[in-house]
Amino acid sequence: MSDLQELYQSVILDHNRKPRNFGAADDANRVAEGKNPLCGDQVLISLHLDGDLITDVKFSGHGCAISKASASLMTTAVKGKTRTDAEALFERFHALVLGRDVGGGKDLGQLVVFSGVSRFPVRVKCASLAWHTLKAALASEAIATTSPATVTTE
Ligand code: ZN
Repeated sequence: MSDLQELYQSVILDHNRKPRNFGAADDANRVAEGKNPLCGDQVLISLHLDGDLITDVKFSGHGCAISKASASLMTTAVKGKTRTDAEALFERFHALVLGRDVGGGKDLGQLVVFSGVSRFPVRVKCASLAWHTLKAALASEAIATTSPATVTTE
């Protein structure tokens, strides 16, 4: 394993062990639940959308190390971003995990740690689950109660 791959793996393990933004978002007004039946990953994303700005985003749920670390890194990446920027970042992230050319991927920041996932097709769903769920949450109606939109990866 190269030094870079080792570094990437240690970031993933760190986020798996100490997930950032775990729990429920303050004053959440968008919620979605995501399931990846292939692996048994389950994630609930809650966020507060203020106009077009994601002011808070958190996740809860359970799953494999990849899905959990991806949810953790996703929340840190999109918090404080506009909805448009977050959706654009998802497109870039999706290209990365599918092994497409992202031209160095500087704009992806720490998310590049998932570049190795493209070699494991089954893991692509684990890595992208939180992002699909984020997209569903952003597309959902504003909610007053916790009746989340659901998304299942196929
Ligand atoms: Zn998984």
